[in-house]
Amino acid sequence: MQQILTASQLLTGPTDRQFAPGALLIDGGKIAAVGTPSEVERHASPTADRYDYPDATILPGLINCHVHLAFDASPDPVSALQSSSDDELLAAMQQRAHEHLFAGVTTVRDLGDRRGLITSLRDAIKRGESTGPRILAAGAPVTPKGGHCWFLGGEVDSAESIRANVRHNARIGTDLIKIMGNGGQMTPGGPGMTDAQFTSEQLRLITSEARAAGLPAAVHAYTTDAIAAAVEAGVATVEHCTFHGNDGAAALDDDLADRMALDGVAASPALPSGWRRMWDMLGPQRAEAIADRLRWLRRHDVPLIFGSDAGVPISQHGDPVSTLELYEHIGFPQADIIELATTTSARHIGLGDVTGEIRPGLDADVVVANGDPTRGVGCLRHLRRVLRAGIDSW
Ligand SMILES: [Zn+2]
Repeated sequence: MQQILTASQLLTGPTDRQFAPGALLIDGGKIAAVGTPSEVERHASPTADRYDYPDATILPGLINCHVHLAFDASPDPVSALQSSSDDELLAAMQQRAHEHLFAGVTTVRDLGDRRGLITSLRDAIKRGESTGPRILAAGAPVTPKGGHCWFLGGEVDSAESIRANVRHNARIGTDLIKIMGNGGQMTPGGPGMTDAQFTSEQLRLITSEARAAGLPAAVHAYTTDAIAAAVEAGVATVEHCTFHGNDGAAALDDDLADRMALDGVAASPALPSGWRRMWDMLGPQRAEAIADRLRWLRRHDVPLIFGSDAGVPISQHGDPVSTLELYEHIGFPQADIIELATTTSARHIGLGDVTGEIRPGLDADVVVANGDPTRGVGCLRHLRRVLRAGIDSW
């Protein structure tokens, strides 16, 4: 079945390729043609369904590269998780997956759930038995005994258990390996944000086991030391990527940023939807330091990908736009923000040939929004349609 969508504007993803007016032809679940309405019309069959959206923009579905469907975004997601049975947790994860899709997020990368429960949800969506975004799943993050998020089931305490853990994840079918390179705030009594959790040698062991299983690695890292060790070990993305010294002060390392740019290692800031509240709490100076760091990464051409850490306190599922507005607030051009949240994100999580762009041959993951997001990304809250592989999400 073919359908043609036309709108006053079409953003393909990359900033240098836009049409006004623009059209796209969807055939089955794939994008068959894109361009001006008259160009696209030439490729279509006379029986194609036609939809016209004046005063609206067609763009690729958003990609949230850092979510936790197992967390409920309450002030205490860990207790909520621990008091849920697997069945209850899975039902809640399914609901949260819907919330992402309804908000225009057609792909999520889940960076830590309980023991890989998410793979069954991912597969149900793939088979069409459940509505939801495409999911890339990390399963339980690799962490030391009692380390950051140990309660998700990924504890290791020796080279042997590291190997066994990565192989286990590969066997249950995860799409990547998540490594907890530093401690964090979610684990009562656990290591802090500037504590290293693994040696360089252990990081290399994890990434080489992952590579052997054909899986990329994402590292949760705040400190410059942990980022350096993880980049050296060959991770694909650095989550949070805050470049803190071991004393917690900023320690921006130009050479390391250049190395990330050269190796194509993406920074995934994963800033929460409730960032305004966070910035109020931090005060203007520390908030400005976050903004400075994002601009600094951009100046160094470090690929930035979109994520919101949805599920942790102050980051809601199904609210991609608030986090996008943070980039707008600190002066990123809107078209760049859209490219970051679609094409760049897809490319750096291994989906560049599948989604993230409106280009013939890719899955028809498409959003139609009222208004013009290149003038204000807030209009992405007002969606007319969300298509996942050509299928309407509501
Ligand atoms: Zn996270």
